[in-house]
Amino acid sequence: MVYATFFNQTTTLKTALLMDAAAIMKTFDAFAKKPDLYNVQEEARDCMEPAVSAINDIYERFKTQPERHAGYIEDSLSQLSSLRVSYQSNTFDLRTLYDIVAWILSVVGDVPSIATRANYYYPLMMIGYVFCAKLIPKKNGKEFKFSPGSPTVWAIMWFKQTVTGNQQVTRVVVGATLDRPDQVTKDNAKAFRKDLLDASHILGWDRNQLSVEQQREGAEKQDFGHCAETYMLLFICSLGQGQEATAIQRSVEGLAANASLLYTESSAEIVDYDSKQIKGGLLNPCLNCEWLLGYGAGFQISNFIVTKRKF
Ligand SMILES: [Zn+2]
Repeated sequence: MVYATFFNQTTTLKTALLMDAAAIMKTFDAFAKKPDLYNVQEEARDCMEPAVSAINDIYERFKTQPERHAGYIEDSLSQLSSLRVSYQSNTFDLRTLYDIVAWILSVVGDVPSIATRANYYYPLMMIGYVFCAKLIPKKNGKEFKFSPGSPTVWAIMWFKQTVTGNQQVTRVVVGATLDRPDQVTKDNAKAFRKDLLDASHILGWDRNQLSVEQQREGAEKQDFGHCAETYMLLFICSLGQGQEATAIQRSVEGLAANASLLYTESSAEIVDYDSKQIKGGLLNPCLNCEWLLGYGAGFQISNFIVTKRKF
């Protein structure tokens, strides 16, 4: 597989996968300091430095206090309770290092014209997983009551957007679930994300007075807000109005994966997208996400389905 290059064509996949935590922090820092070189989206530039600084705080805290809200901003003893970032012209509050990394990957660099699922979108999603696995690595042993580590489920969506001058560009957004920390921290973050969905009205799910608690019957009983798709849907649904919004949503395609199954730490390899093994890791949208996608004006559920549905 020949992969596209990443971060505005400055980095190969292999280089990205081999970076250690210090090199990742240095790369993030460069995004903040040289936004032109990395072609950071205009509206995101002011948020890049606070975002990188928040990642650094969480990373440093993890090194000395690995049990304390690993990977999460939320910390009653800290000043930092959330981080506000901008996606295009709208602002969003984030609560985890994973969300911040995902946001960075969503605003840095143009999508290369040769981008495909196999050579760019799936690998970029895996870079998110691997970066977080390096910054907040798994730790084993009795002393760890809760297990840290990168969230296992990661997702990516890409879509077409018309920009100034009637030019059409492809954008990408990345997201992660809320795995790993202790139950209270995780539940707080989940409630926070669910409130964002509820308050946004952008998905129109208050249209029929449906409660956010509503869940479809089915095999899964996950709460809204947990999914890797949460911020991606908030970002995308905040774009455009009327027909423009519908056109954006119609073009959205997505992938989700149990990323931990698809990366080998010792060799810094991700499973080739075209290989048989990929079937074990790629995921269809859960029932909640399918329900959310059904509320957008134009999402095509077939653009998100990767394997035959079991239900
Ligand atoms: Zn979901």
